[in-house]
Parts: sequence; structure tokens; C-alpha cells
Amino acid sequence: MSDNRAVVYRGAGKVSVESVDYPELVLRPGPGVPRRNENRECPHGVILKVVATNICGSDQHMVRGRTTAPEGLVLGHEITGEIVEVGRDVEYRKVGDLVSVPFNVSCGRCRNCTERRTDVCLNVNDHPGGAYGYVDMGGWRGGQAEYVMVPYADWNTLRYEDKAQAMEKILDLTMLTDIFPTGYHGCITARVGSGSTVYIAGGGPVGLAAATSAFFLGAAVVIVGDPNKARREHARGFGCETVDPLAGSLPEQLEQLLGVPEVDAAVDCVGFEAKGHKDGTEENAAVLNQAMQITRAAGGIGIPGLYVTEDPGARDESARHGSVSMGFGTGWAKSLTFATGQTPTMQYNRQLREAILNDRVHIARNVNATVLPLEEAARGYEEFDAGVPKKFVLDPHGLLRAA
Ligand code: NAD
Ligand code: ZN
Repeated sequence: MSDNRAVVYRGAGKVSVESVDYPELVLRPGPGVPRRNENRECPHGVILKVVATNICGSDQHMVRGRTTAPEGLVLGHEITGEIVEVGRDVEYRKVGDLVSVPFNVSCGRCRNCTERRTDVCLNVNDHPGGAYGYVDMGGWRGGQAEYVMVPYADWNTLRYEDKAQAMEKILDLTMLTDIFPTGYHGCITARVGSGSTVYIAGGGPVGLAAATSAFFLGAAVVIVGDPNKARREHARGFGCETVDPLAGSLPEQLEQLLGVPEVDAAVDCVGFEAKGHKDGTEENAAVLNQAMQITRAAGGIGIPGLYVTEDPGARDESARHGSVSMGFGTGWAKSLTFATGQTPTMQYNRQLREAILNDRVHIARNVNATVLPLEEAARGYEEFDAGVPKKFVLDPHGLLRAA
């Protein structure tokens, strides 16, 4: 049955919208599905009609050919949808429910899940951690599609009790699937609190979500650093200070803003494709080294930015295998703390949902949520890659335009 349209990775620089199989409550063999997951039965799953699904900077790493993602992978891990079918073992979800899906796939049963560490579930992949539509994440089919299967649905879905109210704020709520919890987790792990001064590296959607979170947590000053001028301008639009971290000394720029050359907390929202020099040349450790340089002794560094184990597009051999050249001694000497990895989305999505529904935060505005029909996904990928200050939200059934 090929009556499902989906965004498919077709090799470096290429995505296309294609007809693929309608999902079943089974994970069929396919690109990126490890042997352990082939023909895995999911009677605990549901099938969603996708209402909103976003393009992420994490997808860009794959589409730029900077990972080992296989061709034919159906992309998409930021999924909100309406349930159209429930498996035999689903108890507390029913057809018609509108749900938000954390981008992590997790079982709710293993040691890590029971400790709320759904970022490293032990049962959904052949190594810790799973996600939809992502390289090495268990082969779970992506949700940049009309329909998608979500396993362990009682556990993996956050329901909106009032569907009409949720559809009114759907462009904010769609950010609960990943970037809002991710920015928030970056701030929490960097120990941002009332009166903190914060440096956010990266003014992409994750950086802007982190900046939004820092304000929400009570930060006194939020400084977004990005070499991209349009993104800096956008960040200033909701109260952030901005710097170009590659134009001169970062500590000196911070000193001009704060009176001291350091901040209480730093959040890396860039990852391994970081630019290290004014001419745009990459240096995968650039942000990590700057963060150590400008975070005060005893401060915290949150690292949601992605670092890979294999980077076929890297310039040097060690980076090709995921090594970064960090001045770690600086971190030791300053007793800094570091936290990295996937975000355990489920730890935050419920509270952030309430903040959105009660008008405490305006995440869609701050990340400039921009709706595109699914069929125009390739254009979204292209513009996002060019650095526009937008977060693209795909609309597979025209329900967002209607809302
Ligand atoms: P993005 O590519 O849109 O944004 C990255 C920004 O960093 C760009 O604007 C770029 O100009 C800027 N940049 C490059 N070098 C820089 C430097 N040296 N200093 C400051 N800024 C620099 O991506 P995004 O969607 O905002 O995602 C950001 C990162 O977060 C990605 O690596 C993505 O994979 C990761 N991510 C992680 C999680 C998680 O669970 N940990 C979840 C979502 C996204
Ligand atoms: Zn994402």
C-alpha cells in the first residue's frame, strides 16, 4: 500500500517527497533498521495522521551528508498528530486523540526509562537511544509524512485534552516535540536560574528556544552568539543581546555588555559543524572551547548541539571519527560542569505545554515558525540550510493553514 507521502533522504544535499507504504503496527525492514528491530511487532503502538512536523537542524546534519544516514531514510522526528488507529495493547489512548510525540523513541520499561532517561532507552535500538527518522536511532520510520506509527503509545504520547484550544496554539505546541524541551534542558543543565547571565551559542531554532527558556527561567541577560546576521537580528527582536563570536574576542564583547568578560552559564546550540574562523571554516570544537573560555569558574555548560561518532564530511581524519580537540584542562581548572546528549523530552514537555497554553511563553514567535505544505519540504530544507531565521513546520494535510 503506497498511500502515504513522506520526505525521503536521497543522498548528500537531496531530499524528495515520495509515496511510501502506509504505516503498520510493525517495524518492517528498511533503510537504517537494525536486525534487532526487523519485523518488530508493535501492538502497543498507534498510527497518527500527522498534523504538524518540523524540520530540525539535526536533520540538516544528515542531509548535508555529514552522517552515515542511509539513502531511502524517511526523515522527521518532530511529530504532532491525531490518532487514527490504536494497537491491541494500547489502554489509555483512543482514535481521535490529538497528541504530541517526544522525538525520542522509548519503551517506558527499561532501567533508564524508569529513571526518566528516555534519551537513552535500552530497548528500542541495538544500542542506547532511539528516535524517529534518524541515523543509528533504531530505524523507526520518520514523521515528515502524512501518517506515522508511534510505538509504546500510552507512554510516548502527550495528549491535548482540549483539541480546539490546542489547534489555536498549534504552532507553539509543535515545538514541544523537540526544540523547546531541548533549549530548556540546555539551560537547566547549565544551571540557568533567576538573575543568571547566559551565553547561547547558535541563533538557530534550538538557540532561540534556549534563549526563550533562559528568560522563562529568570535570566537577567541572555546573549545569543551567531555569525549569521539575520539570525542575530531576529534574536534581538525578543530581548536578546547578540554578538558575532567570530568577529574579534568573545570575552571582550561580553565585557562590553556585562562589565565582566564571562557569564554564569553557557549553552552550545551549534554542535560539530561549528564555524571556527571568520572565513566560515569549520572547527568542530570551536563552540566547546569558547564556552569553557567564557563561563565563570564553577559555572555550567549545557551541550544540546549534536556531536557525532562518524562524520564522513570532516576535513581531518580524527574529526571523521568524531574526535574534537578540546582544551579540556580549562574546564578542569575552572571546575566547570558539562552535560550533553539527546534531550529527555518527556521530562519537560508537560510543564512547557502549560506555559504555552497559559500564555507565559511565545515560542512560535521567537523561533519564527513558518508553515509549508509537505510537498514543498525540499524548499524548506534548502532555505533553512541557507540560514534563514525561520523554523519550518510542515503541514501534510493542510490542517495548519485551516487553523
Ligand atoms: P541550525 O543549524 O539552524 O543552527 C545552528 C546555528 O549555529 C547556525 O545559525 C550557525 O550560523 C550557528 N553557528 C555556527 N558556528 C557557530 C559558532 N562558532 N558560534 C555560534 N554560532 C555558530 O540548527 P538548530 O536547529 O538550531 O540545531 C542546533 C543544534 O542542536 C544541532 O546540532 C542539532 O542537531 C542539535 N539538536 C540537539 C538536540 C538534542 O536532543 N540534544 C535536539 C535538537 C537539536
Ligand atoms: Zn529536532
